[in-house]
Amino acid sequence: MSDLHDFPAGTVWLVGAGPGDPELLTRKAARLIAAADVIFHDALVGPGILDLTAPGAQRVDVGKRAGRHSHSQSTIDARIVAAARAGNRVVRLKGGDPAVFGRATEELEACRDAGIAVRICPGITAASAAAASLGTSLTLRGTARRLTLVTAHARAGETLDLDWQALADPAATLAVYMGKAAAGEVSARLIAAGLPPETPVALVENASHRDERRLRTRLDLLPFAARAALGDGPALLLIGEALRPAAPGAVALAAAARPC
Ligand code: SAH
Repeated sequence: MSDLHDFPAGTVWLVGAGPGDPELLTRKAARLIAAADVIFHDALVGPGILDLTAPGAQRVDVGKRAGRHSHSQSTIDARIVAAARAGNRVVRLKGGDPAVFGRATEELEACRDAGIAVRICPGITAASAAAASLGTSLTLRGTARRLTLVTAHARAGETLDLDWQALADPAATLAVYMGKAAAGEVSARLIAAGLPPETPVALVENASHRDERRLRTRLDLLPFAARAALGDGPALLLIGEALRPAAPGAVALAAAARPC
């Protein structure tokens, strides 16, 4: 039987499902998913993870991509609260980490306002998964001392409202979520704000999934690369010197210099 000491009936957990690979779930996430009576999940949460739900549990797809029925955030909040009030153990399962571009605040507040206990189980965010797939570090001692997570999602008809001057920092790594459609604007605005056109960029689509795609390019070529190489899966843009692949000569030299 599941260990339910931290999951009484009538309470809610916001659970990070990670980037897709079920092995990148935390053990806590797997336990909470198996214990839940009702699971509200995003479209990005794949079958390998939903298979962990208990046989009688109710699974509800509230993903924004779930076809014609686009669920508003307030509807999702209300359904979570109603399910908990009915005495269920409720898991709200979100891609990556619930606290990174996950609308967690709205759901936490809705539960707290209703007097329902709610907690967060963190997950591996897409930037970490993308860097792992590339075999690279997001930070680089002395070169990339800052990691900035930014969303390039604009409301329909609006331009991106970002502080490009601050983002064009050569000593930072920029992880751009929801940035595929805006790749052209991201590239042009960062170069206009002073980031060198040859700054390394990596694009990772469907990080940690079987059909993952990785591509390395440079900032000025980013719009073409995004258009030519990406499909319709979720993709992350990583921008900055930390993404520069090590020169083969440097690797060989380092290996040669290593003591036996
Ligand atoms: N809470 C999530 C982010 C949600 S916003 C997290 O922490 O990862 C959705 C965006 O996340 C997508 O548009 C994409 O930019 C990124 N993303 C999510 N899963 C991804 C994956 N497997 N590979 C690449 N990017 C991903």
